[in-house]
Amino acid sequence: MNRKEYFEIPWASLRGMVEPTFAERSLIQHKHYLTSSRLIVSNAIDISDSEILLSEGRSIPYNYLVIATGHDDQVPKTRSERLKQYQSENEKIKAAESILIVGGGPTGVELAGEIAVDFPEKKITLVHSGYRLLEFLGPKASKKTLDWLKSRHVEVKLDQTVNLEDVADFSNGTKLYTTSAGETIKADCHFLCTGKPLASSWLKGTILKDRLDELGRLIVDENLRVRGRKNIFAIGDITNIKEMKQGYLAKKQASVAAKNLQLLIRGGDESKMTTYKMSSSHNAIVSLGRHDAVAQLHLTTMIGLIPGLIKSKDLFVGKTRKELDLDSRD
Ligand SMILES: Cc1cc2nc3c(=O)[nH]c(=O)nc-3n(C[C@H](O)[C@H](O)[C@H](O)COP(=O)(O)OP(=O)(O)OC[C@H]3O[C@@H](n4cnc5c(N)ncnc54)[C@H](O)[C@@H]3O)c2cc1C
Repeated sequence: MNRKEYFEIPWASLRGMVEPTFAERSLIQHKHYLTSSRLIVSNAIDISDSEILLSEGRSIPYNYLVIATGHDDQVPKTRSERLKQYQSENEKIKAAESILIVGGGPTGVELAGEIAVDFPEKKITLVHSGYRLLEFLGPKASKKTLDWLKSRHVEVKLDQTVNLEDVADFSNGTKLYTTSAGETIKADCHFLCTGKPLASSWLKGTILKDRLDELGRLIVDENLRVRGRKNIFAIGDITNIKEMKQGYLAKKQASVAAKNLQLLIRGGDESKMTTYKMSSSHNAIVSLGRHDAVAQLHLTTMIGLIPGLIKSKDLFVGKTRKELDLDSRD
């Protein structure tokens, strides 16, 4: 069950804004890879011990449940509407001479990189509330990224926020934004990249309400079951597992949860369930346009073409499609 009819490769979305046709490969209809499953496109709003309640009022019974609602993505339900959204974001970028990006986490930095590389003539300003970019990585990665953005003429303002409620409009369509430090920024448009909230608010009135930690994440045990629940698993960004929130780790969790589900469904011994080995890895790659990237790896942090070769050309879209066994026509 998913509230959208398609799977979207999250780290490919910023490329889709500068090249909307790219999104045609990174937005994948669920029915094209879930060929032998029943798919329900709807919003889950409540859980009982044996049913999930959907927003349109229907209930779906379950014996076992896996919750993987990750982050709240307020995007259209249909693939065609999402593709149109990419088209209009692209037109907004093309029509602007100056662009303000609010937020210096992975989304803001990757968007700045995409625009700076594809549209080098545009004036880009990036405002970030933290004192360094990409705070989920170490200071070396932040510094290298800052230098890279500056070398592409992106103006970066750290330790400031922008009040988007108070924006002045000029007659030519340009806007005047004010930061918390009292600085003003002229830009034709802005993109808000301050990160999506966890999609766990729907759980707050459910039987799992006391299984949420103070950050709204589901507390799981070593077998990835929600603590104290025999038949409910949780995986991915929604969990309280103390490791980086990355898609490659969510996939590792998915395979452990799948093994444990198979065992339980076959009536196997619970004590034989697989334990999830938490990753201590802080490896992550943030793309910077089509060729470069900044990579934090086990022994080193590097920026430029070499990490770019790993991620930036295709943003793992080909790899993901191959894993989902999709042919090149979908
Ligand atoms: C800019 C950026 C770059 C990244 N780059 C990388 C990278 O290079 N490598 C990497 O491994 N990770 C990367 N990540 C992290 C990665 O995207 C996440 O860790 C991963 O998407 C988590 O997957 P998930 O399935 O837990 O949650 P999500 O991807 O957030 O998916 C949750 C799904 O649940 C659906 N949903 C939510 N609530 C409901 C509901 N109530 N009912 C029905 N459906 C619901 C949503 O529509 C969504 O489809 C990046 C993240 C960002 C923002």
